[in-house]
Amino acid sequence: MSPIAEAVSIASQSFTGQLLQPGDPGYDYRRRVHNGLIDRFPAAIARCHGVADIADAVRLAGTLGLGVSVRGGGHNVAGRATIEGGLMIDLSPMKGIQVDVRERTVRAQGGVLWKELNRETQLHGLATTGGVVGSTGIAGLTLGGGVGWLMPKYGLALDNLRAADMVLADGRVVRAAADENPDLFWAIRGGGGNFGIAASLEYDLHAVGPTITGGVVVHPLSRSFDVLRFYRETCASLPDESMLVGVLQTAPDGARVAGLVGSHCGSLADGEAVFRSLKAFGPPTIDLLGPMTYTALNGMIDPAFPRGALSYWKAQFLTELTDEAIRTLIAGFEECPSPMSHIILEHFHGAATRIPVGATACAMRITGFNVVIASQWSDPRDTERCVTWARKTFAALTPYLAPTRYVNYLEADAPDAAAVAYGPNLPRLRAIKSKYDRGNLFMNNVNVLPA
Ligand SMILES: Cc1cc2nc3c(=O)[nH]c(=O)nc-3n(C[C@H](O)[C@H](O)[C@H](O)COP(=O)(O)OP(=O)(O)OC[C@H]3O[C@@H](n4cnc5c(N)ncnc54)[C@H](O)[C@@H]3O)c2cc1C
Repeated sequence: MSPIAEAVSIASQSFTGQLLQPGDPGYDYRRRVHNGLIDRFPAAIARCHGVADIADAVRLAGTLGLGVSVRGGGHNVAGRATIEGGLMIDLSPMKGIQVDVRERTVRAQGGVLWKELNRETQLHGLATTGGVVGSTGIAGLTLGGGVGWLMPKYGLALDNLRAADMVLADGRVVRAAADENPDLFWAIRGGGGNFGIAASLEYDLHAVGPTITGGVVVHPLSRSFDVLRFYRETCASLPDESMLVGVLQTAPDGARVAGLVGSHCGSLADGEAVFRSLKAFGPPTIDLLGPMTYTALNGMIDPAFPRGALSYWKAQFLTELTDEAIRTLIAGFEECPSPMSHIILEHFHGAATRIPVGATACAMRITGFNVVIASQWSDPRDTERCVTWARKTFAALTPYLAPTRYVNYLEADAPDAAAVAYGPNLPRLRAIKSKYDRGNLFMNNVNVLPA
């Protein structure tokens, strides 16, 4: 028996979840993540059923001297949830969700996905800022930032985090909150999985929906220059209740289009008024913008990002969405080799941008546009040209790029990743890292090196 097999066999006597090794039934499915381009073989996968399982898995990695990856929803495009030859600590069986209606809070375990959380909180007409694709994990998304429809009104997902139960590198379990380990609480709100494993997360909730205003208007690509200029002007005066995303993509019928996807979480009358000009402009060839449930809005674009599709993203904030930048985006999209790819513009304003850069570890407090070149394809023979397209389109945008990049969208080979993601918060993050993870066990992320 190999030392790993022997240690796994001993650990499985107390482990409540599953410990999988290569060859075990389920291993091959569980080692895969959302991005089909990622094809790694962990030495073992610890499928945790509770906090004690996580702590045992951390100790097992220590005993064996194995590198560790932590899997929440497995959505990270760079594949940071899995690791070649290391121990994947998989929280996906941990699905507990508890809504406290009176206190307006929710506590959820680290394997919960946004569609699962929204389903429970929306039973009570409550929500917190979460990702726009339902199959994304709450943990990875929140610890890195958390961009979603509610962020102009209620801040990023991490701004709504009240506390987290953390398993540290030495296996200890501690709570991170404003009044308990406040340095750790500061660091996990933006510093990702660098400081420990979030076994559960507790969020503030707000009255939202169940019916809000949302959806998409679509224009032919031939009108995209005017549409994106109109988008820029509309974004300049959006209220906090609204968020607007611009997208260049291929429609299911094969036509290339420019879409504007919007949401308004206030009254339906206010939502109708805010989006009146959006529905009139053009007019759109397709108009699916109106009252819909908050959960429907959050499932609307799921089919565009199927599990197993091959993906490579480049993303960064723009200094300004100038006419020249718009022309560059459109010219890039015209060269796009795959109908599954998107160029996405996310507009940041409101509450998420009013919080000071040093208040949490998240440095992404910019008013303006984040551009995502989301290259996606299904045939591995297309990999080279689809990756090249993303890189080339992104390179053409260089003159219009601001220094900040969103940590959760970073590609695996991003240059100076920690510096561009954490910005001025990096030195403090490094000091806190050396307190909580001096040996850098949790390095399979946009890594903060111990000071
Ligand atoms: C199709 C698609 C849509 C997306 N939409 C959005 C969006 O709307 N808004 C947005 O902000 N982002 C979005 N993202 C990016 C998303 O935030 C990141 O991919 C994020 O990492 C996903 O979280 P996860 O738990 O699924 O990640 P995983 O891949 O499981 O993990 C990602 C990172 O987080 C760490 N991690 C995961 N769980 C834990 C835990 N419990 N404790 C400690 N560390 C942990 C991992 O170690 C890893 O480093 C999207 C990504 C995709 C592919």
